Amino acid sequence: TTTVTDTIIGTTERYGAKNYHPLPIVISKGKGVWVEDPEGNRYMDMLSAYSAVNQGHCHPEIIQALKEQADRITLTSRAFHNDQLAPFYEKISNLTGKSRLLPMNTGAEAVETAVKAVRRWAYDVKGVPANRAEIIVCENNFHGRTMTAVSLSSNEEYKRGFGPMLPGIKVIPYGDLDALAHAITPNTAAFMLEPIQGEAGIIVPPKGFLKAAYELCQRENVLFVADEIQTGLGRTGKMFACDWEGVIPDMYILGKALGAGVMPISVVAANDDILGVFEPGSHGSTFGGNPLACAVSIAAIDVILKEQLVNRSHQLGTYFKEKLKEINNPLIKEVRGRGLFIGVELTVPAREYCEQLKQVGLLCKETHINVIRFAPPLVMSIVEMDWAIDRIKRVLS
Ligand code: PLP
Repeated sequence: TTTVTDTIIGTTERYGAKNYHPLPIVISKGKGVWVEDPEGNRYMDMLSAYSAVNQGHCHPEIIQALKEQADRITLTSRAFHNDQLAPFYEKISNLTGKSRLLPMNTGAEAVETAVKAVRRWAYDVKGVPANRAEIIVCENNFHGRTMTAVSLSSNEEYKRGFGPMLPGIKVIPYGDLDALAHAITPNTAAFMLEPIQGEAGIIVPPKGFLKAAYELCQRENVLFVADEIQTGLGRTGKMFACDWEGVIPDMYILGKALGAGVMPISVVAANDDILGVFEPGSHGSTFGGNPLACAVSIAAIDVILKEQLVNRSHQLGTYFKEKLKEINNPLIKEVRGRGLFIGVELTVPAREYCEQLKQVGLLCKETHINVIRFAPPLVMSIVEMDWAIDRIKRVLS
């Protein structure tokens, strides 16, 4: 017999471009860490839409903010002011300590914005000759899927058939301070990195790297740009993953959980000496800073703070990692990560294990073939965590 799930997947695959390979499950409802398919089967979500749903699915206070704002005004464009952008700015400025903000919608757009900002800064402030600015990035980075973001990538699969790429990009091995020192020239605008690499397989840089790289950049007058789109807002057990080494980057790029999975919203945060390079007409977005997304984001940040999700991520993550390390299986090569951002690297492809985990009610997704990524909503309770550990032990033991 054909189920609703089968029909939906069939129609989706019939019409959609084949740029994704999802697990064969349809999600039609969600609450907290739990989601449900059309047949009423419940699953625990341990992916959180790639860390966009840190606050849990359909958080009541955030949905309330959405509904109230939706009844008032949803979009003004930036041709006019709206009354939600100002309080959003204040909230994000307090959170990041940065004095200027530029709101966009998706992560990739915020990365675009950051690249435009650091290039302009290089010419207007640092004095790099026209069109010579360079940006240093790391091998196996993931900054999104737009042309700029794939130009930053070292992954040929992400770039094949899309050339020509954006020039002025240098790639160094992740965590290699000497390589960074060698890559910097008088034309270097910025060093952009994920403080923990997500899509690469939850790669934590060597201890001291972030701090040393930041100090090197400061000495060389190079901007240190942290793409915290996936790692930010509590995911790694600190508000920002840069906090693990006490680093305050010159620029934060935030997205995903900034809108709690309810509305897309992203932001670039830096001080006036950097974001001051934009004048009217130099950058923008019809939807960037829209009142609906801003109202949602204000509620999303309030939930992170009020429910102490950063602390919870830290404590639950430590517990989870210990339990995963207890699993005795020669197929497990390494358990790594920080907070509730954990990768289990296998010696074999991880896809099959993700499918088995789905069979026992737990949703996660492989990354880089051999790694199972666990990134549950940060609102998870200890009872729910034990439920998950029990399932994972069954599949991985
Ligand atoms: N940067 C990082 C570190 C990411 O993890 C992602 C998404 O996975 C992006 C950028 C791109 O964000 P978006 O998919 O919203 O464009």
